[in-house]
Amino acid sequence: MARIVVIGAGVGGLAVAARLAVTGHEVTVLERAGTVGGKLGRWAHHTPEGTWRFDTGPSLVTLPQVFADLFEATGAKLDEYLDLVPLDPIVRHVFPGGGPALDSCADPDEFAARIGAAFGDRSAADWRKLWRRAERVWTASHRDILRRTVDSPRDLAALAWRLGDLAAIGPGRTLRGLGRTHLSDDRLRMLLDRYATYTGADPRRAPAALVAVPYAELAYGGWYLRGGLGTLADALLSRCLDLGVVVRTDAAVTRIDAAGGRVHGVRVAGSAVPVPADVVVANTDALTVYRDLLPHPRRLAALTDRSLAGFVMLLGVRGDTGVAHHTVFFPRDYDAEFDAVFGDPGRGVRARPAPDPTVFVTAADDPAVRPDGHEAWFVLVNAPRHGTAADAVDWRRPGLAETYAGRILDVLAERGVDVRDRLVFSEIRTPADLDAATGAPGGAIYGTAGGLLRPANRGPVAGLWLVGGSTHPGGGLPMVTLSAEIVAHAIGPAW
Ligand SMILES: Cc1cc2nc3c(=O)[nH]c(=O)nc-3n(C[C@H](O)[C@H](O)[C@H](O)COP(=O)(O)OP(=O)(O)OC[C@H]3O[C@@H](n4cnc5c(N)ncnc54)[C@H](O)[C@@H]3O)c2cc1C
Repeated sequence: MARIVVIGAGVGGLAVAARLAVTGHEVTVLERAGTVGGKLGRWAHHTPEGTWRFDTGPSLVTLPQVFADLFEATGAKLDEYLDLVPLDPIVRHVFPGGGPALDSCADPDEFAARIGAAFGDRSAADWRKLWRRAERVWTASHRDILRRTVDSPRDLAALAWRLGDLAAIGPGRTLRGLGRTHLSDDRLRMLLDRYATYTGADPRRAPAALVAVPYAELAYGGWYLRGGLGTLADALLSRCLDLGVVVRTDAAVTRIDAAGGRVHGVRVAGSAVPVPADVVVANTDALTVYRDLLPHPRRLAALTDRSLAGFVMLLGVRGDTGVAHHTVFFPRDYDAEFDAVFGDPGRGVRARPAPDPTVFVTAADDPAVRPDGHEAWFVLVNAPRHGTAADAVDWRRPGLAETYAGRILDVLAERGVDVRDRLVFSEIRTPADLDAATGAPGGAIYGTAGGLLRPANRGPVAGLWLVGGSTHPGGGLPMVTLSAEIVAHAIGPAW
């Protein structure tokens, strides 16, 4: 049995803690915030109309089997803890120019038929062809990447990919390039491009292999958790406590003790007594681990671009607007949005809030999250990270967040949904707020953006492991949960 300390109670931290505890280890989770869940955050607000409950982070569950596997591996059944609701449409896509909207769904034939009805037969045929390619990429990455450690470019190169898989993955190609080759309709190209942002990346730089992301969503479905996605954090915490994991909140780790090239424990803010450990699993952003928590800062070899961040508005909306559970309102000029949120310091272009961005609205039809006759809206817009560098924005600048929130409401009105006169209240969460709440540097949602090679799960000193969205195999709830599976297997059982 090893004494294991997990730094951080995000989904990755809680999932790895439960897996390690069930295999006989003595596990303690140390979380700097007052609650668990990390980016899977929640906010409740009380008004005379009643109580409103918002998820402040994720709004869409994909690959539910990954969570079922986790619960089963820890001796429980997912449906005893969570109420999964399949969504149709998964997302309603509203395009510029006022043409038909496109509703995505988990039935590939039905989705192709909807594309045909909205945009014509050629578009449907294009999509079917892309779908076959996406399936090959998904199968290869699921088999070779998503359930094992990938520590270095050499590991990646050594994977026994079949030639057909490699051709489908298209090393060196971008997601944008793939869309340009396969899709003739600009609206489908936009739809495909958006999946790059699921990993925090710019589609013009993101690898074509990300075509596996829409495959996973549209083959296995998009789901809601009744009561809000935050119920996943409750369920994971409950699993951990049942398995004897000690979970300490308000316990910020300031240092990993690692003299002599292996971990010995961690230091917690405000306590002179170190917490001893044979193994440390860090659920903090990989950059924080390498730069701030080790006794000597190290360079993070796999760090490429940082992920984009998100500007979030939580709106109490009076009445029934009839919006779908998820709606994405695309802009006229998608590239202008990417130019704005990523900036291009090389060409002297500073990042800035996009004036005419894509707007993603979630409004769950769930009485548990809004008063009767009202809607609780979660509005998400891609945003530059918080900071003072040329590829970031200082979101603490007085007035910026409020002005930008007003702009987003105007954009929504321009795109046909005007809720400006219906607001009961509006709450803003900038990238600076996410940084402060979860320690995500600059509020970057996914750590390192995009590539197949992300910071390794194996840390730079013996006994140190990294889990969560900034590490292999990537961000998003299912990937983070898979990273916990990979790390728990690599550490192995106590017996
Ligand atoms: C706005 C938004 C929308 C999203 N939408 C979706 C979606 O629809 N679907 C989806 O699947 N995913 C979505 N995601 C991504 C998903 O939320 C994340 O990938 C996932 O929750 C990250 O989990 P994690 O394990 O990496 O840990 P995190 O959530 O990053 O948690 C890390 C934890 O470590 C703690 N910590 C940090 N430093 C320390 C320290 N020094 N000591 C102790 N504790 C520390 C933090 O407080 C935090 O609790 C979204 C994220 C955001 C922000």
